[in-house]
Amino acid sequence: MINLLFPKVCAACKSLLLTEELLICTMCRHSLSVVSNQDFGEPIIKQLFFGKIAIQNASTLLKFEKRGITQKLLHSLKYQGKKDLSSFFGKWLGSELKNSPRYKEVDLVIPVPLDSKRLKKRGYNQAEGFGVEIAKALQIPYLDTILFKESRAKSQVFKKRFNRFQSESVFKVAQPKLLDKKHILLVDDIITTGATIEKCAQQLFKSKQVKLSLATIAIA
Ligand SMILES: [Zn+2]
Repeated sequence: MINLLFPKVCAACKSLLLTEELLICTMCRHSLSVVSNQDFGEPIIKQLFFGKIAIQNASTLLKFEKRGITQKLLHSLKYQGKKDLSSFFGKWLGSELKNSPRYKEVDLVIPVPLDSKRLKKRGYNQAEGFGVEIAKALQIPYLDTILFKESRAKSQVFKKRFNRFQSESVFKVAQPKLLDKKHILLVDDIITTGATIEKCAQQLFKSKQVKLSLATIAIA
């Protein structure tokens, strides 16, 4: 009855889902551009951050192409309330990472945070389900309060001249001591330029002897 009133549609192509299909239809699932079932994109990610931040392990699932399925899925996840997609991809990657010896030494999962305004508007962090499921698979904590994003207003003069840049965001760590000697797995929905992850990493590395690994749903 609920299905008749609110038919479930594929998060990518919007066609009706069959009863046994979950979130993404079989056709779209088969057309997903998966990065690599062997290395999960680690070489590409490490290359992107080479000389900028030290990364232990890195993994991603999908290739992002303009107008491709990955773009549609991430759009549904961020702007159409399809937050279950985040958990779906987290379960997928989590089931792979738990078998990898290199992820056994990771201590905790931290998501790239949204600022409070964005979080309120969206109602959830799109990386949450992804991070929670990976943490479950690795049997480690998921901590989403320690790294946060703060928007601060720029000076009035600046505001008037450049309306688009009214505020700037900064990442901060609430209790840096808690992260001393920790191996952190930082998670996000997508890596594009890597600038956001780099900014987060700079803050996380302020704690002593931190090791950093990365996991994202997609890479552009
Ligand atoms: Zn579909």
